[in-house]
Amino acid sequence: MKISRQQFLKYFGLGMATAAVSEKLGWASPKLAAAKKEAKQMKIKKIEIYNFDIPLHEPFRIAIGTMAAVNGVLVRVLTDSGLYGIGEACPFLPITGETQESNIAAARAIREIILDKDPLRIEALVDGFGKIVHSNPSAVAAYDMALYDLLGKAAGLPLYKLFGGYRSSFETDLTTGLNTPEKMVASVKKSLALGYRQIKIKVGEDPEMDLIRVAAVREAIGPEVKLRLDANQGWTVPQAMWVLKRMEPYKIEFCEQPVKDSDIYGLKQVRTQSPVPIMADESLFSPADAIKLIKEEACDYFNIKLMKSGGLHNSLKIAHVAAAANLKCMVGCMLETRLGLTAAAHLVASQKNIVFADLDGNSEHQVDPIIGGIKIEKGTIYLPEEPGLGCDVDPAFLKKMKQY
Ligand SMILES: [Mg+2]
Repeated sequence: MKISRQQFLKYFGLGMATAAVSEKLGWASPKLAAAKKEAKQMKIKKIEIYNFDIPLHEPFRIAIGTMAAVNGVLVRVLTDSGLYGIGEACPFLPITGETQESNIAAARAIREIILDKDPLRIEALVDGFGKIVHSNPSAVAAYDMALYDLLGKAAGLPLYKLFGGYRSSFETDLTTGLNTPEKMVASVKKSLALGYRQIKIKVGEDPEMDLIRVAAVREAIGPEVKLRLDANQGWTVPQAMWVLKRMEPYKIEFCEQPVKDSDIYGLKQVRTQSPVPIMADESLFSPADAIKLIKEEACDYFNIKLMKSGGLHNSLKIAHVAAAANLKCMVGCMLETRLGLTAAAHLVASQKNIVFADLDGNSEHQVDPIIGGIKIEKGTIYLPEEPGLGCDVDPAFLKKMKQY
């Protein structure tokens, strides 16, 4: 819209004609007026906390533990405007030290903090959760997801567009857990048959056996399919250096967390010797961890997870710190349902420097309780275009859940 100097003075300089400006600039459209009213008046009036258990088809084994079922927590944040937001906590004890019980206790504590508050003041609310983000990051992530769901719904936009909208679809890998080389080969062949072109396998046990696993899997998938590894802290520094040097012929894209989470200097030592790029996962929870890893030059890539950082808010901060250091990221997951995976997918789609995705948490779930949300076809994830997260929990599933 072109306006003359005279009009500019009339609208802005004199401040006499707000209504006219609104009309000229389109701010008076009924849709925008409704959104403005919605955002202004919203208050959190009720919070529902549920637990849920979903068995897995096959137990999922990694170097530091095995899971046979998902024991998660769901929160629904209801407002006086009629809008509500939903979020999921997926505690993974060996990595974040949380359980379903500790997440429920944390979720109840957070409920008391945020009732009657404005749900769109997310920075202030997340700040108010205080130290809970250190002890129960997944419970905080569930609330963070629900608040952003409300923000998107109030704005009438899918979250990935609110966050930056860099892309609307992307490829994900599919992960194979630790097993015998024969069983891992059978599993990756199934992944290829489903159309996946990026394979991640768990290693981090006996280094010699890990070499046999990697050789067998590379032979099974051929030279073109991408292959990434995750050692989940399972090797010592000398073991990691020994085994990664021998991985060179197998064209490994990167290896996640070869050594103990707290050993940043060990991670750096491995990185300087390894022909395989190193990705920090369990060493990276917060934006402050991101700065430390960058300062120490301890890794090539970051693996961001909502359940480690406490949700989208802190994950975006990590991605931005990484972007400023010209460092590329992956977004991974624990064993979330399609609710948590959809939230993570909005993050991936929004940012240019999130170039890898490992969003396969529900691949072994016996039940999918989510309506709408991301679609996965032949290894490609497509974002929903509905406002907010763009998904909901099946009411029939919700009815069966225990409420706190
Ligand atoms: Mg990992």
